[in-house]
Amino acid sequence: MSSPMQPDHREYCSDAVSPSPFACDVHTHTLFSRHAYSTIGECVAAARLAGLELLGSTDHYSCMTSPNIHIRDYQYLMNFDVWPRVWDGVYVLHGVEADIVDLHGHLFGWDQMLYEGIVGREAKRPLTLKQHVWRSIDYAIASIHNDSFTEGATIAQTTGMYVHALEDPKVLILGHAGRAGVPFDVDAVLLAAKELGKLIEINEHSFAPQYGEGSFTRCRHIAERCAELGVMISTGTDAHIACDVGRFDAVAALLDEIHFPPELIATRSAATFLKLLEALSDNR
Ligand SMILES: [Zn+2]
Ligand SMILES: [Zn+2]
Repeated sequence: MSSPMQPDHREYCSDAVSPSPFACDVHTHTLFSRHAYSTIGECVAAARLAGLELLGSTDHYSCMTSPNIHIRDYQYLMNFDVWPRVWDGVYVLHGVEADIVDLHGHLFGWDQMLYEGIVGREAKRPLTLKQHVWRSIDYAIASIHNDSFTEGATIAQTTGMYVHALEDPKVLILGHAGRAGVPFDVDAVLLAAKELGKLIEINEHSFAPQYGEGSFTRCRHIAERCAELGVMISTGTDAHIACDVGRFDAVAALLDEIHFPPELIATRSAATFLKLLEALSDNR
């Protein structure tokens, strides 16, 4: 097994895909994210090759994908019903990776009212962009990409921000908080997630060399505290290309090294993950 600090999987990509150590990959991107390179069909095929039972497709729901706030730019996230639920033998979930946009923990589009439908007709009952997207997704990952609004914030504020984001009924996962690098009270957020039945993500991409030692140290600390506090985690590759789907070299090495309790890994089986998702729906 490769060391978490020396991921070598970027060096190669072959047909000889090694089986994924986890049954689910619940953080992946398609072409819709604009800086990702594969279609949903290619990601599903890669998931099947990696032996995954379940694939969560979670494109960016963020200002990253369009300079406009118009329903036409987000149709991709509103028509998931056309995807087969079980595709090529893989259970497929409809998700988004939603940007946290302020210290209140609001998510992108929460305050953007849309008055038109996709063909330009006036909406009878206008909804916000977030309400439109939220109607069609199974779950959201909440994460930070542009952290400029956190400058000068107190730990109490950033902690509250993450907790409030987790309180959103469709948010199941707090995404790559170690990599985001915004300081917060780790134990307080982890315990809030536990209380709410939500998951803390251990994200493969956070161990990529460009994020450095700091990201690795923070992610390791978060994983260790999840183990000690009995908080459930989800594993996601954050694949931006199909050949990375199900490839968890660094996450598997880290969890192995710290003897992470397998029963706290929500992605260990599709049944486990779907049960948590179901519990979330019951509470909505
Ligand atoms: Zn992200
Ligand atoms: Zn992502």
